[in-house]
Amino acid sequence: MSDCLFCKIIAGEIPSLKVYEDEHVYAFMDIMPLTKGHTLLIPKTHCKDLFEMPEDVARNLYAAAPKVANAIKSAFNPVGMNTINNNGAEAGQTVFHYHLHLVPRYDETDGLKVQWNGRQAEFPPE
Ligand code: IMP
Repeated sequence: MSDCLFCKIIAGEIPSLKVYEDEHVYAFMDIMPLTKGHTLLIPKTHCKDLFEMPEDVARNLYAAAPKVANAIKSAFNPVGMNTINNNGAEAGQTVFHYHLHLVPRYDETDGLKVQWNGRQAEFPPE
């Protein structure tokens, strides 16, 4: 899609810090990381959100997720990881090309507080 930020990142029109790429997916560092190594995994096929995601696109994306998670784990040595996906503006989505957040966690007491579209979420939940 010509006016999609993440399609432009896939096409190399906007720079990104690439973590992983294959025929179907692209993973890159989030520009505003919640923690060190916060990465976004996206399908190369444009789809807005989970509701519009064809099964084969989902299959390819989630097949790559463990590879990306393990690459982050090797690079940053976190003790855990949150995977987060916001669908729709009301759910906190701000970029309308499906993306899975992989947020490494470093300490069970770090109490990461995340602001999703003005709403406060806490990981892990209280
Ligand atoms: P959402 O709020 O779940 O839609 O997440 C969008 C994510 O995209 C946010 O975490 C942003 O920091 C991230 N983001 C926005 N623009 C860029 C960019 O140009 N490069 C990398 N990450 C971006």
